[in-house]
Amino acid sequence: MRVIVLLGAPGAGKGTQAAVLAPRLNLLHLATGDMFRAAAAAGTRIGLEAKAYMDRGELVPDHITVRMLLDRLTASDATHGVILDGFPRTPAQARALDVALDERRSGVEEAILIDVPAEELVRRLSGRRLCRAAGHIYNEVTNPPHVPGECDIDGSELYQRADDQLETVKARLDQQIPELLDVCAHYEAQGKLRTVDGMRPIEEVTEELVAALSQPSESRA
Ligand code: AMP
Repeated sequence: MRVIVLLGAPGAGKGTQAAVLAPRLNLLHLATGDMFRAAAAAGTRIGLEAKAYMDRGELVPDHITVRMLLDRLTASDATHGVILDGFPRTPAQARALDVALDERRSGVEEAILIDVPAEELVRRLSGRRLCRAAGHIYNEVTNPPHVPGECDIDGSELYQRADDQLETVKARLDQQIPELLDVCAHYEAQGKLRTVDGMRPIEEVTEELVAALSQPSESRA
């Protein structure tokens, strides 16, 4: 099973890139944030528990997040391989993923950090908009839709996530950036970390990622 981890602070472009990369590389895109939002909308116990943390801009506790993600990895549509977007977000999650994959004689192939400075993250998150029908991602400043307020792909209404409002954005970045650095250190120690410059245009970042992930594994950096 191929497991690619996309790392980055909120707003770095993980979701945007994973949505394009997954079909090009024939991998399943799994985003824990999307899974929590779907569970909250469906009113499940995990969803309601997670929502309280998400609304405050806090990370959902590891035991909830790890169990949800590892369960999802056992589904038949994940057997070929996955791009993980937004997981792991703490060193404990990274270790739990290593253990679970090791039991399946697999492992994280590569962890790619999409690197974007903090000031830019605030600007991007405040402008981020999602479509109601499918969660397609836009940005009022950096990636606007052709018709304001409407999804280019399915025409549905665009909205702002509650946790993309300024105060919550700051709380998310304050908690998540130190954890992100620790997760990067975890993969660096394993020789699996690659960093790409997330300040370039979306398509350029995509092409660098596709090129990196399309090399045969023995020649990868
Ligand atoms: P995202 O859509 O990736 O920005 O995630 C939205 C929210 O879901 C985060 O702010 C956290 O509250 C929660 N979340 C998503 N992924 C994780 C994770 N791996 N660990 C803990 N909380 C998470």
